[in-house]
Amino acid sequence: MTENEPRTEGNGEAGTALRRFTLVSKNPESAIITSFNLRPADGVPPAPHSAGQHLTLFADIPGKGRVKRNYSISAAPNGETYRISVKREAEGLVSRWLHDEAPIGTPLLIAPPSGSFVLPESDERPVVLLSAGVGLTPMVAMLETAVTDRPNLAVHFIHCAQNGTVHAFRDPVRALVARRPNLSSTLVYSRPEPGDEIGRDYDEAGPLTLDRLAALAPLDEAEIYVCGPLRFLRAFVPGLAARGVPMERLHYEFFGGVEDLFGDPPAEAPTAGTAAPVPAYTARAAAGFTRETIGATLIDSAADAIIASDRAGDIVLWNAGAARIFGFTEAEALGQSLDIIIPEPFRARHWEGYHETVASGESRYGAGDMLAVPGLHKDGRRLSLEFTIALMKQEGRVTGMVASLRDVTARFEETKALKKKLAAAEEAAKAGASPPA
Ligand SMILES: Cc1cc2nc3c(=O)[nH]c(=O)nc-3n(C[C@H](O)[C@H](O)[C@H](O)COP(=O)(O)OP(=O)(O)OC[C@H]3O[C@@H](n4cnc5c(N)ncnc54)[C@H](O)[C@@H]3O)c2cc1C
Repeated sequence: MTENEPRTEGNGEAGTALRRFTLVSKNPESAIITSFNLRPADGVPPAPHSAGQHLTLFADIPGKGRVKRNYSISAAPNGETYRISVKREAEGLVSRWLHDEAPIGTPLLIAPPSGSFVLPESDERPVVLLSAGVGLTPMVAMLETAVTDRPNLAVHFIHCAQNGTVHAFRDPVRALVARRPNLSSTLVYSRPEPGDEIGRDYDEAGPLTLDRLAALAPLDEAEIYVCGPLRFLRAFVPGLAARGVPMERLHYEFFGGVEDLFGDPPAEAPTAGTAAPVPAYTARAAAGFTRETIGATLIDSAADAIIASDRAGDIVLWNAGAARIFGFTEAEALGQSLDIIIPEPFRARHWEGYHETVASGESRYGAGDMLAVPGLHKDGRRLSLEFTIALMKQEGRVTGMVASLRDVTARFEETKALKKKLAAAEEAAKAGASPPA
């Protein structure tokens, strides 16, 4: 292991540390989407995932260094491998490398599955899986899980693709829904090619509209999952909310893309079914003001360091501010112990407090307290830091901590110099007031 590598975990337990995987096979699913099967390099089964979750992988690309991307796991857990299915983006760095260059046997570092875009716990409500393009990857995993583990869950799989050339997983999806009467699928092609036959290759000609969606799926009672390019989400999520689907039943995931950010408004916008006013929260959410986007904006800003660590004290999140203040890149810091930023003499005391807090769930620092500690830069320099911490919990158990740190070294040094000057001035004044006899 080189100094620059995130620390990996050898025992295969679900956790937050990165593990080494090997690319064991590549299977084309369409002209532009290929599946990649990844097996743990240590032979220990991969951490189990909930269908719909994604992986964060780190790829070492010649000439580009280590780069990070997220990919949904496109199959139900099998205890041996993860499958991801990636669309080759014309100018995309990682997707092109995976498709065109990465040979079988390529090592990849992978963080454990994460994300809350997963099936509901109860079978009570039917589920609508609505996807476009490569956004079908988490839906395929969810459909597979419904077939294998959830016999009572009714699932409507609705997928929009341009045509049969780019459409992935047509036959596997059809084979899955044929397994039970409470499963159905509708394939909508927006630009069918001459070889695409309606009734045989696809079910309907697009674009899909909200009214048509309402006729296909029980929107009034279903848990609805939407995944696809941003313009697809923009077309459906606010429209469904305006139609009265409460946000608690509306789940969505966005894969992103430069063209989504700067591109034209949706070319295939569905016609809204009702003129009901969009609730304020939904309007804000549609404009991008969700807890997730606001949180991500804060994290991505380089002003303060935001660092999250797991129960063991290993770093699981390292933002640009952390890289700026401490000198370690994200790839260098992820998976390392917080020791990398704590000066040696302070480590024992730090870990005593850390482990006590993890075990008790109670921070010894009150909410909102600003703490001041010395820190360590990559080049060995001492830093003065001020920070606040928050405990991360799941079902009452501490899963880790997140700290927001500010570098106050300059101010600290200035205050120290001023204090010294003040003390000297006081000494001089004292000496002047009572001169030695
Ligand atoms: C939770 C989550 C799950 C995801 N799951 C999947 C999945 O299952 N399958 C999948 O395929 N993707 C998935 N993604 C998207 C994935 O993470 C990558 O964003 C995607 O593969 C593109 O990465 P890239 O390195 O190939 O492209 P990048 O190099 O990051 O480029 C991104 C986009 O910009 C365009 N671009 C780049 N450079 C230029 C340029 N100079 N001029 C014009 N355009 C340019 C590319 O064509 C591409 O569309 C997921 C994303 C998230 C957040």
